[in-house]
Parts: sequence; structure tokens; C-alpha cells
Amino acid sequence: MDTVQKLKEIEDEIKKCKKCPLHEKRKNPVAGEGNPDAKVLLIGLGPGYNENLQGSPFVGAAGKFLDELLGLANLKREDVFITNIMKCYLPNNFATQEEIETCTPYLERQIEIIRPKVIITLGNVATSFIFEKFGLKVQRIGEIHGEIFKVDNLFKTRIIPMYHPASALYNPNMKEILREDWKKISKLKI
Ligand code: URA
Repeated sequence: MDTVQKLKEIEDEIKKCKKCPLHEKRKNPVAGEGNPDAKVLLIGLGPGYNENLQGSPFVGAAGKFLDELLGLANLKREDVFITNIMKCYLPNNFATQEEIETCTPYLERQIEIIRPKVIITLGNVATSFIFEKFGLKVQRIGEIHGEIFKVDNLFKTRIIPMYHPASALYNPNMKEILREDWKKISKLKI
């Protein structure tokens, strides 16, 4: 089975998933989207209002800003794969630890299939999960945003924690910090 088929299999499972109460309020689960052979994987928290309606990640206001940031990094949506920690609509933009534990096996399988060279985590929840998974010391995003962490696994994955694009929507200073962090990626040899 090739990468596309394997990812599709996970997507089909997610569409049927009723493992936690979040399925009751979802319209369209958001498995993730992009290049199945992407070298760069982006991980957000979970679908918001617009993502739930459209079934695609980062299609609302935060997504618009993310597109600008991708441009600064010399990346296009078609080159990367974008997904989330949580696959179903988060009405309050919050998931419990139990919900995270229930949902993240899907993400772990996606990571194994895509085998990205670079993982960009967006915000504290995604950063903590990925840092723990790869045996890095968990730190707050304010301390480590924009830094490059190397993991000594088979694929020499690099992990780059970033502020969540939504955190900058109404804050011009934060927007500038995010822009500077993302510009650094354009100089990275991937
Ligand atoms: N915020 C996220 O974390 N993920 C999305 O897909 C959209 C908004």
C-alpha cells in the first residue's frame, strides 16, 4: 500500500470514529491535508468552526495568517502536510487530556507514514505532545518558539515549535514575532 492509500485508510477510520464525545458535535472531521510525501508536517490543535464546516485544516482566519507564514518560510500548502492533535471540532478550542490520549494514535500513525524531516508544532498543546513523544524536555512555547530541536531518530527529524497563528490574530506584536520565526525556516536546508 502506498502513502496515499495508507493515509486514506486513517481518514476513513477518523470519519467513522466515535471513541470520544467530540464526535457528537462534529460536522466534518478533519484528518489533515497536503502532500502525502511532505518533508514538512504542521500540527495544530484541532478544527475550529470553519474547519468543521469544510473538513479541511486551517481554513479560517488563523489559516489565512498561516498561509502568509508559509510564504515567509518559502513553503506552499501543496508542499507540506497539515494536521492537528485533535481531529474533531473543538467548540471551546479545548480538549481534555483523555480526549487527547484517545485521538492522538491517529496522529502517531500519520507521522509514521509521512516520516517528515521537519515537524512544526503550532501552540502549546501540539508542542508538548510532540516533545514528549520524541523524548525532549517539555517547555512552554514562550521559551522555545522558533528554535530548532534535533531528534536523534532514524530520520533525524527536526522539531520547530511555533506560536499558534491564532494567538497573533489580534496582536500586531505577536504577528511580528511569528513572522520573524517563520522567516528562519526559509534558510533551513530541508
Ligand atoms: N486551529 C487549529 O489548531 N487547527 C485548525 O485546523 C484550525 C485552527
